Amino acid sequence: MKISNFYKIQKWLKENDIYFHNDVNISSRSWIKAGGIVRTFIQPDNIIKCHELIKFFSKEKINFYVLGNQSNVIVRDGVIETPIINFIKLSHIQLNKSLNGLHITCGSGVPIPKFSKYLTNQGYSGAEGILGIPGSIGGGICMNASSYNNYLATYIEDVKVVSDNGELSILKKKDLNLRWRGSIIKDKRYVVLECKFFIPNKNYIGENETKKISDKILKHRRYYQENKLPNLGSIFATKNIYKDLSRKNIIFFLLYVFYKLGNYFFYKFNKSKILNFRKFMITLYLKMLGLDNFDQWSTSDKTLNCLVNKGAQETDKAISFLKEFKKKTKKYFEMENIILEDIQ
Ligand SMILES: Cc1cc2nc3c(=O)[nH]c(=O)nc-3n(C[C@H](O)[C@H](O)[C@H](O)COP(=O)(O)OP(=O)(O)OC[C@H]3O[C@@H](n4cnc5c(N)ncnc54)[C@H](O)[C@@H]3O)c2cc1C
Repeated sequence: MKISNFYKIQKWLKENDIYFHNDVNISSRSWIKAGGIVRTFIQPDNIIKCHELIKFFSKEKINFYVLGNQSNVIVRDGVIETPIINFIKLSHIQLNKSLNGLHITCGSGVPIPKFSKYLTNQGYSGAEGILGIPGSIGGGICMNASSYNNYLATYIEDVKVVSDNGELSILKKKDLNLRWRGSIIKDKRYVVLECKFFIPNKNYIGENETKKISDKILKHRRYYQENKLPNLGSIFATKNIYKDLSRKNIIFFLLYVFYKLGNYFFYKFNKSKILNFRKFMITLYLKMLGLDNFDQWSTSDKTLNCLVNKGAQETDKAISFLKEFKKKTKKYFEMENIILEDIQ
């Protein structure tokens, strides 16, 4: 980006009373706890300001990028001149009860766990499974986030978006082109400002029941998913990485059979050792894939499909790890984690 653009952006933000920080260290904010420095990190506090900001970028032909809670992106090291818009301050939740159910309007910066708890506390079922997803509503719609068979998008009525040329529009759920870990928001780089949900009365089961379901899911999640080291959830958009990899060759097929049998055995007869077995299998997989030598970067001991940071501040090795992993497995699944390597 031209130096003159940097000053132009700063001046415009000040004149329009839009909150921003300079030189924000991504490693202190992202879920992976590594990455570069963003020169201009903008946090508008209402929808009108967001819209004006995107119109300004469009008019001035300045590229920008949107970040939510940074729970699915890995940002390159060094200085990032591209202005970043973040929606943490669009955190409003409004509730309207009608005869048929709940109408909820959320700003795109509302954390998914907050939305999930909001419904759970009202005694409405359907969002208990997404309680553990650390993204924002905007990031969650972009990625079509889901967990334990609950999808954030299930109860969407419509989404207020801006295109990168500054045009405001309302998309109905059917227009979102929702698929496994993707949507039209991701394809067309729309910016989500706000989302309306409707949860029908048939979902009402009472607060005690919804809390029981959430607690059970959270417990399961903590046990079987990475919860100690910084990570970004799943690397690849697959429901079963071991099964998909079994198509690679006879060795990976045999590894999968062994993995399945072992899981069955430990689950049935010696559950306390199941994680040790998985750790052993993951070490084998990493060796077979040639991914066992990336310093402080590896996968979780609990699942092969999760990058973990064992203490690095920089992402260069992590990006090499992910690219190598992708190269070796590209026929079988798409990347879910987003690598921001080419950002200016
Ligand atoms: C510990 C952990 C567990 C996880 N578990 C799950 C899980 O169970 N299920 C699951 O689906 N995911 C899971 N994830 C991944 C991640 O939380 C989701 O993909 C989430 O939806 C990302 O939201 P975010 O706000 O962090 O987006 P970011 O990571 O900041 O960005 C992701 C993408 O969304 C775009 N984006 C962000 N905000 C907006 C917006 N307002 N408008 C338009 N685009 C936007 C960004 O440009 C980027 O392309 C997990 C991650 C972690 C760290």
